[in-house]
Amino acid sequence: MTVTILYREELKEYDFGPGHPFRGDRYQIFPKFLQEHVKPDEKYRFLKAEPAKDEDLRRICDPDYIKFTKEYYRASFLEKVEDEGAFFRYHTMDNHPIGRPGRLEEAARLVIGQAKLAADLVQSGQYRKVISLGGGLHHAKRNFGEGFCIYNDVAFTGIYLVEQYRLERVLILDTDAHAGNGTAEYFYSDPRVLFIDIHQDPRTLYPGTGFAYEIGAGEGKGKTVNIPLPPNAGNDSYKLVFEEIIEPLTKEFQPQIIVRNGGSDPHFSDELTSLGLTVAGFRMIGEKVRKMAAVCDGKEIDLIASGYNREVLPYAWLALVGGLLDWDVPIDEPVRVPAILRTDSHLPETKRVVNEVKSYLRDYWKCFR
Ligand SMILES: [Zn+2]
Repeated sequence: MTVTILYREELKEYDFGPGHPFRGDRYQIFPKFLQEHVKPDEKYRFLKAEPAKDEDLRRICDPDYIKFTKEYYRASFLEKVEDEGAFFRYHTMDNHPIGRPGRLEEAARLVIGQAKLAADLVQSGQYRKVISLGGGLHHAKRNFGEGFCIYNDVAFTGIYLVEQYRLERVLILDTDAHAGNGTAEYFYSDPRVLFIDIHQDPRTLYPGTGFAYEIGAGEGKGKTVNIPLPPNAGNDSYKLVFEEIIEPLTKEFQPQIIVRNGGSDPHFSDELTSLGLTVAGFRMIGEKVRKMAAVCDGKEIDLIASGYNREVLPYAWLALVGGLLDWDVPIDEPVRVPAILRTDSHLPETKRVVNEVKSYLRDYWKCFR
């Protein structure tokens, strides 16, 4: 099966500047590593998308937010000084570009353009699986940017599939270490999108949302599923969560397509987070998602961006992609796994979380009764 990987060099402009953990050159690491380890043959091809237009962005953002964001990020340093007060009406400090005027906003549009092309390619039947490198900017909201995210491509993918292709059952699975607070907000009352979010306990990590009791509202009640894992939870915890929650829900929901997002920040060595996955754990996530997608004829869109340990990033991303596509690739651990993480000592705590999640959702899902 050939997979399309959406990538273009301009993604490197998605860069907040020196000293910020989110630097644009992170994106160049994976395509290079992939080509060194896997021959393209029939396996994959790279494709370039075009940046999204205002009309695309209006599906997910208010017009004044788009206008301000475009002008601010493209402005010169002196022009920016004038707008400094307004900036914090629309964005948090971690979205503040350090230094030079850049093309960050255009790169953010490119990520939305990739989401749109991914949906078009899968819905047209040309490809079953499309990967968007640089995607998964799940903290951005309709009129507020935060957590290194300006425009939310996960939300765009879901909304575009529902509005443009009239899909009635879209599964979004967020495996990033941080809770997808932006994505959650978009679909909180929407019964067409089942949003499952597995992340580090919000009491211990930004953005501080994504508790088990947050299950959606109105018609969307029961269609938001938050699985907050204890710090250091490892491969066995993830395996349990897939077997006990994610796989049964997928079977019952019968999605028409799966959209997964999240890079390598749940790795134990990540500098911003405290989860306990190893590279082998990323392979397992990829394999699980591939098998789950059997319910929708293998249709899956994969959005990958996070990961702040650059040494681990290419290994974890390749393991994830290898699992998704059933590629025979080596699973190397670039950082020695500390003895304390070789067995998942947090499994009992994860079991309690699993039971808690099920108890909140029992009224909405037969598989939890
Ligand atoms: Zn993250």
